[in-house]
Amino acid sequence: MLSSSTFKNIPYGKQEINQADIDAVVSVLKSDFLTQGPSVLEFEKAFASYIGVNYAVAVSNGTAALHLCTLVLGVSKGKKVITTPITFAASANCVRYCEGEIELIDIDPETALIDLDKLYALLKAKPKGAYSGIITVDFAGYPVDLEKVRKIADEFGLWIIEDACHAPGGYFIDSKGVKQNCGNGQYADLAIFSFHPVKHIATGEGGMITTNNKELYQKLLLLRSHGITKEPEKFVNDAALIEQGGWYMEMQTLGYNYRLSDLQAALGISQLARAKENLKKRKQIAAVYDKAFEGTNIKILKNNQKSSHAYHLYVILVENRKALYNYLRENNIFSQVHYIPVHLMPYYQELGWKKGDLPLAEKYYELCLSIPMYPSLSMEEQGFVIEKILNFSK
Ligand SMILES: *Cc1c(COP(=O)(O)O)cnc(C)c1O
Repeated sequence: MLSSSTFKNIPYGKQEINQADIDAVVSVLKSDFLTQGPSVLEFEKAFASYIGVNYAVAVSNGTAALHLCTLVLGVSKGKKVITTPITFAASANCVRYCEGEIELIDIDPETALIDLDKLYALLKAKPKGAYSGIITVDFAGYPVDLEKVRKIADEFGLWIIEDACHAPGGYFIDSKGVKQNCGNGQYADLAIFSFHPVKHIATGEGGMITTNNKELYQKLLLLRSHGITKEPEKFVNDAALIEQGGWYMEMQTLGYNYRLSDLQAALGISQLARAKENLKKRKQIAAVYDKAFEGTNIKILKNNQKSSHAYHLYVILVENRKALYNYLRENNIFSQVHYIPVHLMPYYQELGWKKGDLPLAEKYYELCLSIPMYPSLSMEEQGFVIEKILNFSK
């Protein structure tokens, strides 16, 4: 039996920084551009190619990505947008930034993803046009069937934002047998990613929006940087460049500073080069957990043959969750809970949501625990985690 002193702390998720990453950042530090230089575009191109999408816009974090998406899709006061209660609050908050209203739909308890039958039933029961859009979340790395969502969205005139923060490299197989990568813009209008250190690719803070829609892409570029353009062919005031001078630029709309720096972009490029390999490690770790928990009283979320999970999180479902969480902590294993349902947050309760509104999400929340899942988790460490969980649950 291994003792807890054999290992340092084992968190639920962790970034992995190697010498190539450090060298990449140092080289930007020595260059002319700490921000607004060439690394951002290079990162965007590399990321778009990894995902298999036409356009990518790097931004300061995943939440800024969501905010820009709701802005370009026209969310405004009173507009209603649907999302899932089992997600990070930012998936809903972005609608509130634009004074829109959030509708939450309960989950499928087997996957913890938004229940598409319930989505359909809700839309059917309301007059057409009652909702503007839907924000789907590939929770834990499990891809939502966006082909299905698109069909529903088209019937009721909704746009789709895919919150793919958990799922770079994940995919599902659509009805034509085609592999559809999370965030590839095939079915969703826009998708977003985060490069917070617990996610697959770490840039400290960072985010990305992906799309195949050129018009939305150009609006996003403008809003990311103050609504200002320096490209003469895009000027509203054609003559100004010649009349005024070479410094001329135009602020055409009210934008933000949601830029990613070149330091972060360089780190992102370097991290992205290992994304495939690291995803493979996540899948191997998941397979070991799957096997270890088979036939035990540790339940796991369902996975299915028609999709490829990106395993941002590995979630187990246990009756005595709090006791297990504390027991693991005593053994220097730091599990986490994903997520406290959005509607149980005091802010959303003030808006009228209450306990009991979404019983399946609430039940899931009572049971869920995210156990260590990151590429550098060693076999020995994972063995120790499994041993402690099984020992506790006997
Ligand atoms: C991390 C995360 C975000 C927010 O990303 P930040 O980069 O932390 O702003 C949004 N949605 C989901 C599902 C996330 O996991």
